[in-house]
Amino acid sequence: MTNDTLLPFSSDEVQALRVALHQWGAEHVRSFPWRQTTDPYHILLAEILLHRTQVKQVVPVYEAFLARYPDLTSLSQASQGDIYQMLGSLGLTWRSRLFYEMLQAIATRYHGNVPRRKEDLLSLPGISDYIASAVRCFAWNEPEVLLDTNTVRITGRLLGWPVRDSSRRSARFRHALASLLDHEQPRMFNYALLDLAHLVCLTRRQPLCAQCPLNTWCTFATQESTA
Ligand code: SF4
Repeated sequence: MTNDTLLPFSSDEVQALRVALHQWGAEHVRSFPWRQTTDPYHILLAEILLHRTQVKQVVPVYEAFLARYPDLTSLSQASQGDIYQMLGSLGLTWRSRLFYEMLQAIATRYHGNVPRRKEDLLSLPGISDYIASAVRCFAWNEPEVLLDTNTVRITGRLLGWPVRDSSRRSARFRHALASLLDHEQPRMFNYALLDLAHLVCLTRRQPLCAQCPLNTWCTFATQESTA
């Protein structure tokens, strides 16, 4: 057992699990335009557009946004109507006011730079804990836990815990994922975890446990193989 009694793994097992996830990620992590950059503005924009939106719909809008507004200075010149129009193609017009207010806050409070501190990001209009954590992790490689329906699904299956809607806000799940997180390479760890959930630890269909790098340690996979 680790010192962390939440995890039924030794420290060596946790390290082996991280290595297995990284090895899988090196071959399978998906390539998106916002993963080719560490620019906080680009990553913040992507995370806002990705909120409850299909990835394939986001790519052209993200690229059009950056072609028109390549940096926060140019975007700060946009009117609320411009923002409304750009977000409209994703059906995100309901977010346009918050997005506009967020831009104003960045311009006035942070001199036009996306803030790095978590509490500063969370103080911006429309920024959730997930978006703040994702921006810090993907822009600055900060060791942030990303709790969403996908990562709690993997965590729940791995540890044999029931997963509910509320698990995304659960301190227990957060603590467990924080113990699994690779603090040396948090960006790549989280990319791999998110993509493992999307490609292997499937939500609607049976997970593809035979192809999963975590199956050695996974409660769900063990139970399935002995059923
Ligand atoms: S072994 Fe199966 S259930 Fe466990 S994390 Fe991998 S895909 Fe998900």
